[in-house]
Amino acid sequence: MEKAFLSGNEAVAFGAYEAGMQVACAYPGTPSTEILEAIAEFPEIDAQWSVNEKVAYEVALGAAVGGVRSLYACKHVGLNVAMDPLMTSSYTGINAGFVIVVCDDPGMHSSQNEQDTRWVSLYSKMPMLEPSSPSEAKEHVARAFDISEEFDTPVIVRMTTRISHTKEDMVLGKRVEKETAPLSYDEKKYVMIPAFARKRHVVVEERLGKLKDFAETTDLNEITINDKSVGFLTSSIPYHYLKEEYPDASYLKLGFSYPFCDDKIREFADSVDKLVVVEELDPFFETHLAAMGLEFETKDATFQTGELTPDVMKDVVEGKKRPAPAAVAKRPPRLCPGCPHWFSFATLKKHNIYVAGDIGCYTLASLPPTSAMHTCVCMGAGVTFNEGLRKAHPNEKILGVVGDSTFVHSGVTGLINAAYNGSKGVIMIVDNSITAMTGGQQNPATGLTIRNERTKLLDLEALCKSCGADNVDVIDPTNRKEFDALVEKRVTEDALSVIIAKHPCKLIK
Ligand code: SF4
Repeated sequence: MEKAFLSGNEAVAFGAYEAGMQVACAYPGTPSTEILEAIAEFPEIDAQWSVNEKVAYEVALGAAVGGVRSLYACKHVGLNVAMDPLMTSSYTGINAGFVIVVCDDPGMHSSQNEQDTRWVSLYSKMPMLEPSSPSEAKEHVARAFDISEEFDTPVIVRMTTRISHTKEDMVLGKRVEKETAPLSYDEKKYVMIPAFARKRHVVVEERLGKLKDFAETTDLNEITINDKSVGFLTSSIPYHYLKEEYPDASYLKLGFSYPFCDDKIREFADSVDKLVVVEELDPFFETHLAAMGLEFETKDATFQTGELTPDVMKDVVEGKKRPAPAAVAKRPPRLCPGCPHWFSFATLKKHNIYVAGDIGCYTLASLPPTSAMHTCVCMGAGVTFNEGLRKAHPNEKILGVVGDSTFVHSGVTGLINAAYNGSKGVIMIVDNSITAMTGGQQNPATGLTIRNERTKLLDLEALCKSCGADNVDVIDPTNRKEFDALVEKRVTEDALSVIIAKHPCKLIK
């Protein structure tokens, strides 16, 4: 029996591998990045860094509709980018198993918001599994492929940062190869024009009913009756924290968290004197239990933000408020010494430029000592916010900043939009030749694949010219004098300009 000590993200890779998965796609994003990196270690699997999450979702879904088991992995905000195909894929269903692994980030260790992906399962009418540990992540991913094929639906596996990044011993299994299903010529299922989609919506509702029946009987939802004075309804990592603190209590652990298993929930509620709901982030279970008319206790609203860590579990159960954070000296993260972004942002600050920022290491330039970035909302918004801000303040010195990987992800459409609509201003692509913030992944502008094999290199300069930029300059920001003069010139011109500030990340080996 082969054993391994794996993180939750690595466990997902092994679970999918053993289940015969053949295609996997993702765009890097903490805390999900290592899933694809681990999958890329298996030569049998076609793995790729896609240019963004929507593309990744569609390639993986296309493979599943084509007839091979496929997986799409992302962080929670990455799922937002893929929501367009996701919602309609609930209608089309699949031709071979399709699993969506999404990693939420309670506590926002490396994210711009704290959204709770469990709502997506309800909204999209897709089933959701919630592993509570790395070893369960491995098992759940494999089972998700079976559920996907049994019910003809994509299946969401929701992880959180703690499960993704903690490690556990687990037993490895053998890969089970799956035959490729033949191409399906069923346009009524896969061409979602209104006439066909109306009928598929009926199928989705019928499927939801079957999934509810499954939720009642599956061992993924597990009742354990011990001391009946208190029963916890919970899921994910809080289950283990509760078990540590209250080992003798009764539990309903929801591993298949949507659709809800109403009969099982009622049975459990009737079996215990006091029902307590403990869930991380939003009141997802709580809202449903209230709608069922059940009586229960739950956490104070102050615990709806941030992680539920072991040290607060007693306060959660006793209905206390979240303690105020300890007053320790803060040491905010900052750019590495010698990082090329220091040079770019020092120049922008010197010229007193209002900077529309984006997602990457360079977002740290919003913090002291640089303090030279003034907005940052989502991937690609450094380019589009530049256009919007200039509409409100056409005579101010405003500039949009975006990284090389982020520009390819979703900045390029903003540049096309600016050129098409006659907008002016400067976009600075801070090109460090890597996707640095997530640990150094390749992208089309580096010319290397996920397995570090040479591939076609995207020419950013030619791309920006063909998008319609009036000026495109490629310059090393560490050449401070020339860089300073160029920024001053471009920011005062009445033109649409792109400055590619090119200098590699200091951590590239
Ligand atoms: S990882 Fe690279 S790009 Fe990011 S802060 Fe460090 S040197 Fe700069």
